[in-house]
Amino acid sequence: MVQSGINQLREQVRGAVITPDDEGYEQARRVYNAMIDRRPAAVVRCANAGDVVAAVNFAREHQLDLAVRGGEHSVPGFGTCDGGVVIDLLGMRGVRVDPAAGTARAEGGATWGDFNAATHAFGLATTGGIISTTGVGGLTLGGGIGYLARGYGLSCDNLVSADVVTADGRFLVASEKENDDLFWALRGGGGNFGVVTSFEFRVHPVKDIYGGPMFFELRDAGTVLRFFRDFIADAPEELGGFPAFQIAPPLPFIPEDRHGDTFLAMVACWAGPLDQGPRALQPFHDLAPVVAEHLGPMPYPALNSAFDALVPPGLQHYWKANFVTELTDEAIDAHLEHGPKVPVVNSTVHIYPINGACHRVAPDATAFAYRDANFATVIAGMWPDPTQNQASISWVRDYYDATAPLSEAGGYINFMADDDQDRIKANYRGNYERLVAIKRTYDPDNLFHLNQNIRP
Ligand SMILES: Cc1cc2nc3c(=O)[nH]c(=O)nc-3n(C[C@H](O)[C@H](O)[C@H](O)COP(=O)(O)OP(=O)(O)OC[C@H]3O[C@@H](n4cnc5c(N)ncnc54)[C@H](O)[C@@H]3O)c2cc1C
Repeated sequence: MVQSGINQLREQVRGAVITPDDEGYEQARRVYNAMIDRRPAAVVRCANAGDVVAAVNFAREHQLDLAVRGGEHSVPGFGTCDGGVVIDLLGMRGVRVDPAAGTARAEGGATWGDFNAATHAFGLATTGGIISTTGVGGLTLGGGIGYLARGYGLSCDNLVSADVVTADGRFLVASEKENDDLFWALRGGGGNFGVVTSFEFRVHPVKDIYGGPMFFELRDAGTVLRFFRDFIADAPEELGGFPAFQIAPPLPFIPEDRHGDTFLAMVACWAGPLDQGPRALQPFHDLAPVVAEHLGPMPYPALNSAFDALVPPGLQHYWKANFVTELTDEAIDAHLEHGPKVPVVNSTVHIYPINGACHRVAPDATAFAYRDANFATVIAGMWPDPTQNQASISWVRDYYDATAPLSEAGGYINFMADDDQDRIKANYRGNYERLVAIKRTYDPDNLFHLNQNIRP
């Protein structure tokens, strides 16, 4: 029954349908997090929105699990499943910029690298992730935190409209004017409401930025973190970036004898006038000696891909996350205890500021509810060697246990693990019931359940 359905699906779609008998299946079934090892019945490499409609209908009619993926970066591995259907959007990565309208439209499988390359040519950008291989889709639907968030809001705050294939196979446009409830839910509600085949964003005049990483000795980490907390509260909104506990990779700007040492890194992105960049970052230089830095003017996409090599596909991942309204001295002490224990060069902890423009959106204006949180922290365990699974997971959990009581109940869903499903309600605060109601309207049978799930 399923097999004959798959044969029909093959005839229906323009893209490829890859099953366990097909060459390329091993590659097609893989996702970014190497800890995830699942075997779907079919991976549908969609070529257009019509293929997405066909794949959604096929999964629903055959009562199969349905996973959706674009950039494949889901840490819990939501982009694949055992025995079900995977909608793979990586064949749909086109980006069209409309400079006159100040918008750019990305297909559902585009990465931030695709997006930034296309918009940079016009001197434009919008808030996206800090790694260029991450998908526009998953990142935006969960909220979207990045260098430009303080100035321009979350990625989802810049969404103008979305083309969506819903669970019943309909194709809808969601915007402030059409299907506005769906549009509200898409901005933070994750992949719960349908497959977005195209995202239209507002873009801003950002071409070259002044920034890069600065590495401070661990003994100065407390000074830097406390300063950062106070300074970023009302720093100019052109300034983005984050502090990180980071092992020094073997890069030429870091003294060779310090490669492999752990530092408190401050990664900065000044998106204002370039000649004001050095002055904007001077307060960090005044704080403590900088052991190594790679600061300078650069194209925004260059900063956006500067750390890609630290996180290649095929690492094991386990992450935990929290929103933080007040980064207390006690919380900083907890970071100072656990951050320096970061086990490998790929693992890291970032404390992202999400104030400024993110705060100017009302908590109930989009599904993303934590509009008063000042920081989103992520403890990102990423490591190449599976024999280190237990040690790395323990580091993440111990760190999380120490910082969670000093944080808000909710954490950013895109940074949360698959064992965080019980925190979803807390994550959406007062927006949760409305999300459930919209889920009941658009996906009453929970076809889209492989995500941080909002149950209908
Ligand atoms: C190395 C790395 C760096 C990251 N950096 C950042 C960062 O700077 N800022 C930030 O906010 N987050 C960041 N994240 C987290 C990231 O937002 C999530 O992992 C997100 O889910 C990735 O989206 P994706 O499209 O790449 O993943 P996928 O695995 O393809 O998708 C994840 C889920 O999102 C949904 N989804 C994806 N695309 C669509 C679509 N077109 N329509 C409907 N549903 C869809 C599906 O439910 C899917 O299972 C990072 C993650 C990693 C691994």
